[in-house]
Amino acid sequence: MAEKVTLVGGGLSGGLLSVFLARRGYEVHVFERRPDMRQGNYLGGRSINLALSTRGIRGLEKAGIDKDILDIAIPMTGRMMHDREGNLAYQPYGKDGQAIYSISRGALNIRLLQLADAFPNIHMYFDHKCTFCDPETGITRYTDANGNAVEDKADIVIGTDGAFSAVRDSFMTSRFNYSQTYEAHGYKELEITPGANGDFRIQKNSLHIWPRSSFMMIALPNPGGNFTCTLFMPWEGENSFASLSTPESVLTFFKKEFGDTIDMMPGLIDDFFGNPTGNLATMRCYPWVKHKAALLGDSAHAIIPFYGQGMNCCFEDCIVLDELIAEHNGNWPTALDHYQKSRKPNADAIANLAIQNFVEMRDLVGTAAFRHRKHVEHDLTELYPDLFKSQYELTTFHTTPYRYALEMGAKNDRLLNYIIDGKLEEKLADRSFMEPLIQQMLTD
Ligand SMILES: Cc1cc2nc3c(=O)[nH]c(=O)nc-3n(C[C@H](O)[C@H](O)[C@H](O)COP(=O)(O)OP(=O)(O)OC[C@H]3O[C@@H](n4cnc5c(N)ncnc54)[C@H](O)[C@@H]3O)c2cc1C
Repeated sequence: MAEKVTLVGGGLSGGLLSVFLARRGYEVHVFERRPDMRQGNYLGGRSINLALSTRGIRGLEKAGIDKDILDIAIPMTGRMMHDREGNLAYQPYGKDGQAIYSISRGALNIRLLQLADAFPNIHMYFDHKCTFCDPETGITRYTDANGNAVEDKADIVIGTDGAFSAVRDSFMTSRFNYSQTYEAHGYKELEITPGANGDFRIQKNSLHIWPRSSFMMIALPNPGGNFTCTLFMPWEGENSFASLSTPESVLTFFKKEFGDTIDMMPGLIDDFFGNPTGNLATMRCYPWVKHKAALLGDSAHAIIPFYGQGMNCCFEDCIVLDELIAEHNGNWPTALDHYQKSRKPNADAIANLAIQNFVEMRDLVGTAAFRHRKHVEHDLTELYPDLFKSQYELTTFHTTPYRYALEMGAKNDRLLNYIIDGKLEEKLADRSFMEPLIQQMLTD
């Protein structure tokens, strides 16, 4: 049995995985490049929030902190679309009561580190940047805050060091498949501030979207009454980050495109020019295991954020690996091999789903045809809950493999096309007609 496991990266994946491994009795050493975020230096205090859904909640539940986290999260029951004139259209995400949760990434990471701290067999080292990993020996090397070199040797090394993983770099020798695809879009975080009494100035329990075809903005609520907005826009060309180079051009653009927000974003200009513009990329690689080293979370599969599943997928990785270690009685080579084989197709599926959803959120959600399609889909989920589940529901509110959600989405599309093209909407409630049709089209 491996005694010592080193995790490179103490972010969301590293935090949760350390707890699972400590519970199984391993000595867990976590090396994190950044300072300890519990000291209040998390990304200079910027608030980034993430949509947490069923898969992620299950991971937190297994770690025993789901209730803590849900207490500081805000349920979002649907999408609220804003058109240029400020008209609103609401689409529920699922059935009544189903919600995804807006949670501060910093608060979640801090809570995971606090939980990890309670285990005597978890040892955390902050300000330690990994510079070297040897998968054959389990040796990793770091530079600490004072520039000193630190060496560690473990039975197993897991790279939980995110999209630009140093552990993954050590896999880049022969027979390692790797690809990275950057989107033509980048993203920037902005803020809608609370009202005078700390109230929410737009509907609290929705994920707000301003879809504008080649670009879009979204906003997620925070407990303080503010919303973290993310503007997704091309790097170059018309209506791009490059084209918005002066305060005047930003104001003119926002007045035209997001006019209903302008009075609620007093820090717009400062945020726009002060906050960094981030890249969006899909990174795929395989194998995820080499000798004594493995990749988990974004280091194995960084995806674009349009299904809100990156972290949820990482937490599911942790659950799967934990269960496999138990099933194989701590036989790491076997557990890791099963882990990579079972997770890789699902990681590819959610990467593809996220790309599909980018098009949906950016180009389609604002159109009448799309809204009609969503109504039909919603009616089917309400009328035939045992027979029909939307792709969004399977991905977000279930723990069925992502691969299955992707496959079912294609079948659902065929059914929806058949109903809409054949103008069969008035037959939706006719069970004797619909049940055999759904069964036939979804099982073929
Ligand atoms: C704009 C945006 C919005 C998103 N929205 C959502 C959402 O709504 N829902 C969702 O589920 N997911 C979302 N995600 C994805 C989510 O943020 C990631 O999937 C998740 O953070 C990955 O966790 P991780 O721990 O694997 O990697 P990371 O969060 O990147 O953590 C990696 C850790 O490793 C450390 N590290 C890196 N290199 C080294 C090194 N050399 N040595 C030591 N330490 C190192 C880093 O400092 C960091 O702490 C979003 C992502 C983006 C960019």
